[in-house]
Amino acid sequence: MTPATARNTEPLSPLARIRHDVQSMHAYAVQDAAGLLKMDAMENPHRLPAALQAELGLRLGAVAINRYPGACVDELKAALNDHAAPPPGWSLMLGNGSDELISLLALACDVPGASILAPVPGFVMYALSAQLQGLAFHGVPLTADFALDEAAMLAAIAQHRPAIVYLAYPNNPTGTLWDAAVIERLIAAQGAQGGLVVMDEAYQPFAARSWIDNVRAAPDRHGHVLVMRTLSKFGLAGVRIGYLMGDAALIGQIDKVRPPYNISVLNAECALFALEHADVFAAQALDIQAQRALLFEALGQLPGVTAYPSQGNMILVRVPDAARVFSGMKARHVLIKNVSTMHPLLDNCVRLTVGTAEENAQMLAALQASL
Ligand SMILES: *Cc1c(COP(=O)(O)O)cnc(C)c1O
Repeated sequence: MTPATARNTEPLSPLARIRHDVQSMHAYAVQDAAGLLKMDAMENPHRLPAALQAELGLRLGAVAINRYPGACVDELKAALNDHAAPPPGWSLMLGNGSDELISLLALACDVPGASILAPVPGFVMYALSAQLQGLAFHGVPLTADFALDEAAMLAAIAQHRPAIVYLAYPNNPTGTLWDAAVIERLIAAQGAQGGLVVMDEAYQPFAARSWIDNVRAAPDRHGHVLVMRTLSKFGLAGVRIGYLMGDAALIGQIDKVRPPYNISVLNAECALFALEHADVFAAQALDIQAQRALLFEALGQLPGVTAYPSQGNMILVRVPDAARVFSGMKARHVLIKNVSTMHPLLDNCVRLTVGTAEENAQMLAALQASL
């Protein structure tokens, strides 16, 4: 049989049309949380108060779902702009979560030879977006105490001249809010070679500082810097709203690769409603910060456990045996994230989301019993 007749008689697998690198990838794993206390994904533990739930229901019921998203998305952009208060001359674009914005940035910067650079361990989407877009990713290890390795970062920027440097401020999964003076120098170096810097502020509601203050203090040094935020950790993880701020000319270009109707009218209306009640969410964030301090202190009392200082709504913890702790806690109905195989610096580390006082007590008891 010649190859030509084989082609005519044997059905070809449709899978053969899928990129080979995609076929050999692992899918992003969302852990099954049925019946478990969910402390693995940095979700805000607080629901909306019942009265606001009812009010939101009425608002969503009145939304014109027969129309494509229009004015309400512009209203949301204006409300977020007021909320974050970037300097004059900056504008804002929306993503279906920051995850979409990270993908769009890789798409927008995909010129021959472009690469993406970030400290590691860090947020997995930076590397994944590069890989999917066919860009090189350069991970620069943090120091042993999870600080930026300034010399290594500067050397890597000089060597690779990346299109984008991502700095998560604070970082996930370590919770570290990196030294501002070091960041200033990395921003200057990246600007000098004509690259972009994305400050990823997913955990801004829980952090002592925001880079937007540095931007406002010196806008002339931040023309190549973008500040990315999300409403996910704020308390709307299910709603999927991320936003990217930067110089209007730069945002105008990146916004061209965005699918025109990427934000659902229901998501936009829900986010608008949440911003109208920003005081409720601010009180929740304060509670989470207070709980973080209590949890950190309690973790410090456990023998063999090292907790790392965090400015996010999670705490990275090194334990004697991460696999044992993970499965022991799961057997006690508490789901956490075992990050120990993500990077050598995270050897035997697990990540705990900060919950309510009751949830944290249950999590601590499960951890203690699983050590
Ligand atoms: C959670 C997270 C995001 C993504 O959040 P979305 O839910 O996609 O908006 C972005 N960056 C970091 C560092 C995160 O931890």
